[in-house]
Amino acid sequence: MKETAIKQEPKWVDTHCHLQLTDYDLLSLNYENIEYLILPGVDAESSKKAKDISSKLPVPAYWAAGLHPHDAKNLSAQKDELLKLIAEADLIGETGLDYYRDHSSREEQRENLTFHLERAKEFRKPIIIHCRDSFSDTYDLIKNYADDFPVILHSWTGGNKWTKKFIELGVYFSLSGILTYETAKDLKLSVKQIPTNRLLVETDTPYLAPGQYKGQNNKPEFIVETAKKLAELKEMTLQDLSSITISNTNTILSR
Ligand SMILES: [Zn+2]
Repeated sequence: MKETAIKQEPKWVDTHCHLQLTDYDLLSLNYENIEYLILPGVDAESSKKAKDISSKLPVPAYWAAGLHPHDAKNLSAQKDELLKLIAEADLIGETGLDYYRDHSSREEQRENLTFHLERAKEFRKPIIIHCRDSFSDTYDLIKNYADDFPVILHSWTGGNKWTKKFIELGVYFSLSGILTYETAKDLKLSVKQIPTNRLLVETDTPYLAPGQYKGQNNKPEFIVETAKKLAELKEMTLQDLSSITISNTNTILSR
């Protein structure tokens, strides 16, 4: 009898997946290639929603509470509720600085990021950071904390210079569908220098669908397209990248 080896598809931790912001039928999504998910909040309400759905999915899911830089102006109004959620959450975020959109003033954004960094220090929880056109200020704010708790730079887009500087801080770099875009030439070069024990992958569902799905809403199963591109750039097998990224996320969560 001929042996038929059942080949297991490599699995992925989607470290940034806003399922609570979608109208997907969450029970009928395809999670076959998902090891587990991390569901970040963008404000108090969506953090609470992340908590609620995290226990109701067919795959394990962790959740994070935080206030997105776009809404940093609402920090004082949401602070009490955020504090309660942060105390309960598995991680803190997403937060950060977005100097591309500037939906809140830069001062409000820095104040908001500092609030979250202080809570991460207090609760010893990992933090998820959004950094868009704000490398210098993000670096200056997190450099005093980077030894205290794990820092995830979500949907990393930095070129060589900033990637090198952030590597020295010992942070984690989460790569999104942007890595598959033709335009991401500098990013493709800079990921080559990231140590494998600092690599993570994410979808940022429902945003940033990988190249071949561009224009569609993103979903967890599409994560493999980003992983394929990353494996190619790191000259690794998909299976090895799967193992190392799962292990990296387990380390962050002390799992
Ligand atoms: Zn996000």
